[in-house]
Amino acid sequence: MSDKPFNQMPLFVSTRQSSLISTAPNKTIRPAAKPGGALSVCVLGSGSGGNATVIRIGETALLVDAGFGPRTTDKRLAQAGLSIKNLQAVCLTHLDQDHFRKTWPNTLLKLGVPIYLHEWHFCDLMRIPGGAELRDAGLAHSFSASPFEPMPGITASTVRLQHDKQGTIGYRFDTPAGSVGYATDLGHAPAALIQHMAGVDLLCIECNYDEHMTTTSARPSWVNRRNMSDSGHLSNEQSFEAVRMIADAGPVGLPRDVVLLHRSSQCNHPMKVHRVFERDPDLVKRITQTDQRRRTRWLHVKPAPARVRSQMPLKQ
Ligand SMILES: [Zn+2]
Repeated sequence: MSDKPFNQMPLFVSTRQSSLISTAPNKTIRPAAKPGGALSVCVLGSGSGGNATVIRIGETALLVDAGFGPRTTDKRLAQAGLSIKNLQAVCLTHLDQDHFRKTWPNTLLKLGVPIYLHEWHFCDLMRIPGGAELRDAGLAHSFSASPFEPMPGITASTVRLQHDKQGTIGYRFDTPAGSVGYATDLGHAPAALIQHMAGVDLLCIECNYDEHMTTTSARPSWVNRRNMSDSGHLSNEQSFEAVRMIADAGPVGLPRDVVLLHRSSQCNHPMKVHRVFERDPDLVKRITQTDQRRRTRWLHVKPAPARVRSQMPLKQ
């Protein structure tokens, strides 16, 4: 385990070798998930107060980030027709508390649900009450490379992104029924991310702040500097450009659905987001804005046929 700051570590994209490290055999038996079935996504909530997204195949589901407590998560899952008992795995982007609540380890232990996190975040997990017990039960899987299979029928490949000291992880989930990309809490969109997400059918990407609202906000200037830095968050403009670069890098153009995550309540507004994305009339029709307090509808993933999209010049 390294404690080097993020900017001293090499960025990498997925490799062909899986390198999952489980520190003890997993003795907990989970109900077997059957591969196959329709692929759907529901964001249970997103923002600085908590982030959690469900990726569902049939009756089984994977949680990306667990930034609400188990009770709130179960309540929102019930509204979406699922329960916490449907969860087969949790994949974490990083361990800030809006992405992993400290109340989860005991619940995961009881349910026998494994979590997957990058090896550079593993030490942080050990500092959380119940983290060592998760490790000892064989339920804490750290990875240094990918792809790996967090749940039958889903292959996860990852890209490391810059965010604060330890960075964050962007995921791409490939299934026979389509593919989903997920990237939030990134200070900028590097070429590795653009290539990694090219061709996904549904893209969840951060769209955090409006520049003018940020610079004129009452927040301390050091907070604004951090949020607007290359290790902070993606602005509306950066998010828009990233989606268009991802579309241009892939064979199918724009993802069928684009889900915008982690909107700041203080320094952004849905109308500000809409105004940026409506510059591309084809793209604005595809966006879903998420909310901190409520879940989205289920978004059903359908692989897009190859098509040629109308080209608009990218901002240089
Ligand atoms: Zn966050």
